[in-house]
Amino acid sequence: MSTEPETTPSSEAESAVPLEVSKPTTPEEMDRYECRSCGYAYEPVKGDSRAHIPIGVPFQDLPPGWRCPICGAPTSQFSNIGPKGAPSGFKENLKYGFGVNALTPGQKNLLIFGSLAIAVMFFLSLYGLR
Ligand code: FE
Repeated sequence: MSTEPETTPSSEAESAVPLEVSKPTTPEEMDRYECRSCGYAYEPVKGDSRAHIPIGVPFQDLPPGWRCPICGAPTSQFSNIGPKGAPSGFKENLKYGFGVNALTPGQKNLLIFGSLAIAVMFFLSLYGLR
């Protein structure tokens, strides 16, 4: 009988479960919240200078009396619209669309206008035919 504590299985299980989404550390990774009444979006990247909220304060950590700076709606009237530059749409739909749904707006722009530019170049190249 050994008195050595069996830490291997539990520590292995802990390291094998990184499924828990890590807390965002930078303001860019934090979720933005949009006022459902007026469309104002609280962005941790900007903070709220009128209410003296510094940059980098997540929406959850706003003071209880904080209200929409545009229309005065309470925080309960805000809905999570995710971080900036994240793929738009519901998360459960991101796996559809041959992977296109998971692209960020910037990647979609590059795909659309890049392929348009290639098509224009192709048609212009037809002038090179004899
Ligand atoms: Fe508002």
